[in-house]
Amino acid sequence: MGTKLHRGLARLRYHQVLFGYRGTRRTPFMDKVEHLRAKFAARFGAGPAAVYRAPGRVNLIGEHTDYTGGFVLPVAIDLSCWVGIASRDDSNLVIYSENIGDSVEANFGPRSVRRSGNWSDYPLGVAWAAEKAGIRLRGANVYIQSEVPIGAGLSSSAALEVAVGYAYLDQAGLAIERSKLALLCQRAENEFVGARCGIMDQFAACYGRAGHALLLDCRSLEHRLVPLPADVQLVICDTIVKHELGASEYNVRRAECEEGTRRLAEALPGVRTLRDVTPAQLEKHRDLLGNTIYKRCRHVLTENDRVQKAAAAFESGRLGDLGQLMADSHRSLRDDFEVSCKELDVMVELASGQPGVLGSRMTGGGFGGCTINLVNAANSAEFQHSIAERYSAAMGLRPNIYVCEAAEGVERVANARSEEP
Ligand code: ADP
Ligand code: MG
Repeated sequence: MGTKLHRGLARLRYHQVLFGYRGTRRTPFMDKVEHLRAKFAARFGAGPAAVYRAPGRVNLIGEHTDYTGGFVLPVAIDLSCWVGIASRDDSNLVIYSENIGDSVEANFGPRSVRRSGNWSDYPLGVAWAAEKAGIRLRGANVYIQSEVPIGAGLSSSAALEVAVGYAYLDQAGLAIERSKLALLCQRAENEFVGARCGIMDQFAACYGRAGHALLLDCRSLEHRLVPLPADVQLVICDTIVKHELGASEYNVRRAECEEGTRRLAEALPGVRTLRDVTPAQLEKHRDLLGNTIYKRCRHVLTENDRVQKAAAAFESGRLGDLGQLMADSHRSLRDDFEVSCKELDVMVELASGQPGVLGSRMTGGGFGGCTINLVNAANSAEFQHSIAERYSAAMGLRPNIYVCEAAEGVERVANARSEEP
């Protein structure tokens, strides 16, 4: 299994994250805006017309359920992708990513934007998807700077898509319907970038709310905000590994779920997605599936149930239920869906039983990336210290730890300086 340590040092510089138990340090909001304005002006010769931000996300529970039309419970986090934008006289898009240290120039339009296979496919893909949807955009200079760690499973990709998408549309003077924006960004990632992601990440970046998680029905796109307790912190522990296997196995899992749905639908008329199948029906038709596909389907069914129960636990204040639900979710992802790895299992084991930990599980697609831990605020500092030490001792790797708050979805945070009161 090939492994790479993902961009730890670059992230340190760009995301103000300190290694280990010292936790996270954020640059104040207006300092970020000023940073972006200054960098924009230095690159493009004049300041931006407006500055936008869209958040990354962490998924509390509901993993590998979005692309099967199930339920998810993500939280938009206070690590954002920031975008400065100003119109150009021509119809070109000139886009610079500070994180990558690279720029791209393209004349946009469905036929003129070309896929390159690198980072610029994300912001250009959003322009491509907008044009495909019949939206006329303007030429623009765009400056990107993201605090969301890239490739760690906290959805830097959707934060980028949604931030630039919102900026393009707002600058073109178009009203923004958030669910349309989320779908447009998903289309960009599916069809232009070529990553078959579900709708969860873009939806969280669009609809996140401070102090809340978002219960999303990925089939109907119905959603409701679920309040999070103020004295519980979201502690995200990044294993700092990402096994190369992840991308290909993701596609294999999707195909397995599709095949399972197809076989079950043949026996059970009316079944459109896996959530239409009851646990009893799954058991009854187990022989149609074979052991591997059966286990994949069992994960999806049980995980959908856990999402509903977790949302109810938050809403009713029965926080004691969360530990079991998150532990079961992790076990199901490890044993039935088989997307965990040694580092994630170790990180979860180390968290379990620590004082003040309400629940712990892998989050994101798997094969590396992060765990999400719900930790009583009073125990958080000690938890961060202890898990960093223990993970280092067990794996020989220093984890990155992010203590996040639930944040607002995409928004314009500032106009051009001259337009401000
Ligand atoms: P995740 O969304 O979990 O961070 P992905 O693999 O889905 O991981 O997306 C990461 C990719 O998104 C990067 O490899 C890069 O191409 C693109 N990306 C994300 N943030 C930025 C950024 N700030 N600048 C340029 N590209 C970015
Ligand atoms: Mg992504």
